[in-house]
Amino acid sequence: MLRILVGCSCLATFPASAQDTPAFTYPLPTAEDRIAALGMLEGLPATERRFFEISEPFQPKFTPGPHDWLATHPEPTQSYARFIQSGRKSFREPRVVIYLQPIGAMPEPFAKLLPTVRKYAEIYFQKPVVVQDPIVAPAGIASRINPSTSEKQWLTTDILELLSREMPKDAFCRVGLTLTDLYPDPDWNFVFGQARPDRGVGIYSFARYGSPDNRADFLRRCLRVLTHETGHLFGMGHCVYFQCLMNGTNHQAESDATPLFLCPICLRKLHGTQHVDLARRHFELAEFFSKNDLSPESGWMTMRAKALGLGSSETR
Ligand SMILES: [Zn+2]
Ligand SMILES: [Zn+2]
Repeated sequence: MLRILVGCSCLATFPASAQDTPAFTYPLPTAEDRIAALGMLEGLPATERRFFEISEPFQPKFTPGPHDWLATHPEPTQSYARFIQSGRKSFREPRVVIYLQPIGAMPEPFAKLLPTVRKYAEIYFQKPVVVQDPIVAPAGIASRINPSTSEKQWLTTDILELLSREMPKDAFCRVGLTLTDLYPDPDWNFVFGQARPDRGVGIYSFARYGSPDNRADFLRRCLRVLTHETGHLFGMGHCVYFQCLMNGTNHQAESDATPLFLCPICLRKLHGTQHVDLARRHFELAEFFSKNDLSPESGWMTMRAKALGLGSSETR
């Protein structure tokens, strides 16, 4: 019988064990743990420090339900200091481009979404993002028919191998996108995505994201998994401190409850290695959410801009 675990298996150190009941009670961090994980902010310029201060809109990680990620995975913690010590990957010349590689057929309306997804990644990481020509019929990829859905699935490890070959010289990472469902191991039912940070490659599938006719929900799921997987590619582990983009998720409802935003600790990790212009990133994200009718996210950005005291003079 296939295991029912369906979450992100991005960190391959975790055993692919699936449980119908909680395996254990995860010791959720306390407020003091969150402050310690963020680290000292003294010494940072005030214009940066304000983005990392723990405040009202960031919700501590919810107590996991019996089928949620933290009920079944002994997730290690990754503080900002541990992230910095871990040999995380930084964008360094000439390897500064994020490549998105469509794999398999990408008919409309999916193809239409690609420029939007590309733009979002460019804003999120403040780095150039290039969509490559599709590999319509990839060779040497193991596949199977999932007995639950009767749909074709590709083996992620073969796709990650494929992506590792012919990496462009200026690639920071290469992320595959596909409409075909994925499995990481014969014992697993499926995964949304999987990354190999050591090789700078990742793959994620749109296959389980519902109808693209519901554009906002579908787009939100695509944006969430793309940025989550890419976050792993420069060494960010799963976040256990706040409700955060980098939370591990075990099923679609848990994933849908995960915000598109990084918590202060994970945003500090992004900034600590990539040195992004945080004010510019904020305004560009707000504009993106507004243009794409992602109303809750757009409202959240407006509220944050006020709390941060961001003025329009900081937009560019
Ligand atoms: Zn993950
Ligand atoms: Zn976080």
